[in-house]
Amino acid sequence: MTPHTDTIQQQQQRHLLVQLLQKQGITDQRLLRAIAVVPRHLFMPDALQHKAYENKAFPIGEEQTISQPYTVAYMTTLLEVMPGEKILEIGTGSAYQAALLAEMGADVYTIERQKKLFDRYKQFDYLQRYRRLHCFYGDGYKGLPAIAPFDKILITAAPPGIPEELGTQLKTGGWMVAPVGPAGMQRMLRLTKLANGELTEEVFDKFAFVPMLKGKQ
Ligand code: SAH
Repeated sequence: MTPHTDTIQQQQQRHLLVQLLQKQGITDQRLLRAIAVVPRHLFMPDALQHKAYENKAFPIGEEQTISQPYTVAYMTTLLEVMPGEKILEIGTGSAYQAALLAEMGADVYTIERQKKLFDRYKQFDYLQRYRRLHCFYGDGYKGLPAIAPFDKILITAAPPGIPEELGTQLKTGGWMVAPVGPAGMQRMLRLTKLANGELTEEVFDKFAFVPMLKGKQ
């Protein structure tokens, strides 16, 4: 993949991005610190790296995108990540979100359904520093029953409805953050698992995500 360089200029651009996110209402200090540390440009194709610190989503190949920093920050804020928590992410994509969670001290299990994207992670030397980051190739709708239960689940592609089956892989009192709904009309939901196994729902802002698709590719 890309050479692992991080210039002073790129570090400065990251700090400006952090300031912008703060202005937009992001206050989680460990999250802001992680955004200041993780070199987003390394998660993007070479030709787009000069734009890496713009607050935008960009294509990463295979018709997929690296999410907009604000969106990543918004979801991660709702997740309320604590160091040492076991977190399942659906949709590794560029692996930027997964790296942020690992940088925040979580044990991260992330699933990608596209083999071409998955094969990149092993070649991606920046990720090697995170012993607590584990990448899996598979269908996120199935989760990781052998590793469950999880403290938190983050879905970074949009399922058409609440993915109740993933709820079974949550600990009681744990929660799942997911953009739910049809193309271009998704609502960010936080679904908390109650002692009786039911999921309570909190509804947040609207977002546009790529769809969560069934099966592997
Ligand atoms: N978290 C990513 C954003 C990914 S875009 C990042 O930080 O860059 C959404 C990703 O979800 C895509 O890579 C897509 O291939 C993947 N995806 C869609 N449906 C999936 C499923 N059922 N299981 C696992 N991954 C899925």
